[in-house]
Amino acid sequence: MNHHLKPPVDPAELEHRNLRGGEFWRAVPAYEDVDEATFLDHIWQGRKSVKTTEELFETIGEIVDPTFLEDAKEGFRRAPMAVRVSPYMIACIDWTRPYEDPIRRQFIPVASKLLPDHPRLTLDSLHEQDDAPVQGLTHRYVDKALFLPLQTCPVYCRFCTRSYAIGPDTESVDKAALAKTPEQWKQAFAYIASRPELEDIVISGGDVYQMAAKNITLIGESLLAIPHVRRMRFATKGPAVMPMKILTDHAWTDALTGVVDHGRKLGKDVVVHTHFNSPNEITQITKRAMDVLFSRAITVRNQSVLIRGVNDDPATMTLLVKRMSWVNVHPYYVYMHDLVKGVEEMRTSIQTSVDLEKFVRGTTAGFNTPLFICDAPGGGGKRDVHSFDFYDRENGIAVYSAPSVKPEQSFLYFDPIDTLSAEAQARWAIPAVQDAMIREAVARAGGKVAAPA
Ligand SMILES: *Cc1c(COP(=O)(O)O)cnc(C)c1O
Ligand code: SF4
Repeated sequence: MNHHLKPPVDPAELEHRNLRGGEFWRAVPAYEDVDEATFLDHIWQGRKSVKTTEELFETIGEIVDPTFLEDAKEGFRRAPMAVRVSPYMIACIDWTRPYEDPIRRQFIPVASKLLPDHPRLTLDSLHEQDDAPVQGLTHRYVDKALFLPLQTCPVYCRFCTRSYAIGPDTESVDKAALAKTPEQWKQAFAYIASRPELEDIVISGGDVYQMAAKNITLIGESLLAIPHVRRMRFATKGPAVMPMKILTDHAWTDALTGVVDHGRKLGKDVVVHTHFNSPNEITQITKRAMDVLFSRAITVRNQSVLIRGVNDDPATMTLLVKRMSWVNVHPYYVYMHDLVKGVEEMRTSIQTSVDLEKFVRGTTAGFNTPLFICDAPGGGGKRDVHSFDFYDRENGIAVYSAPSVKPEQSFLYFDPIDTLSAEAQARWAIPAVQDAMIREAVARAGGKVAAPA
């Protein structure tokens, strides 16, 4: 016997192929009588999305503990982000354990788990508004720009970076305006056409899933017609939260395919960027939808957010990466959770991300291994998490620099205070001590001026 042979694989290693199938949604009381054709209908999914506690109660009231519903009611009231959850996501939640469930955590706030915000938190922590030459276009890096042509999404994520602009106003936030009409989009196209260095355009929002097919074509063709634009990405969380749209909204899927095909004829790369966070989001419906895009030669890449209790342990992150790979979605980035209002219990430390990267690398192909990224507040842009100039683990302060984006500044990321030692937590309670800790960390990183956090 050849002693170089590997032992037989442990079936747990193949768990990523075990996709949920059958009519799993029928376990939700409101969907008990819903047949497959109805559940796959994107119009039905949009119409039945849960936006209020009353709708949540009508949908799952029979199977969850009333104390959970009370807790969610108060959570909805205090949330800076509007709530909207697709029936597909509702059906992917394990309602016997709603507090632990990774999908519930992303979309349905509960008051009992909320923590105070970090003292250095600001709205629009990425300063996208500061780098916007025209409404709805952020031009921060030399050769790429971020176009935000609409303000709505198929779901609203509690942790959204753009809670300053996305979704309807809430009790605590009046949303900033993005460019929302074809007339306003023309200004963005004119700006892009006037800047020969722009080769790469990210079309995000909001979410292009919400865009009418004719506008996918309008935006796609307008950008393809600009000679120096070489690469485009349509960004949508849709495949993660409502994969059936790709199967049943033929006009939308065909419009996307049309832009990709035309781009290919012109030698230009047009792809989809999506946003899976939990392996539980990927079912046999997802596989069918991703097979359609793959058969049309549409590249799909993924940008996850690292979220406490959702994907912050090595086994779950590895399962997510391998499951995405199995359905031909390339894991591209895993972001540190931004410093966003009202979601402090969802953030992790920089150390968590560093440890996860170490674990995940080596479990699958290198091209399917995501980069772990910190987009530190202040507009320095994306940094490899490992590339901090200094990291004060005791007080939870990481200092980054971005020589080709904003050379003269340092950028700071703060670990969630509840994860620090009791002594460090006491230090953060005193504003003068906060300033001293930050000055010290910046000095030890090389002494550059700290960006406004
Ligand atoms: C993320 C981002 C991009 C795209 O960056 P990549 O690293 O190429 O994915 C472009 N512009 C802005 C403002 C961004 O935040
Ligand atoms: S889908 Fe994207 S833009 Fe929309 S709420 Fe979620 S994270 Fe924000």
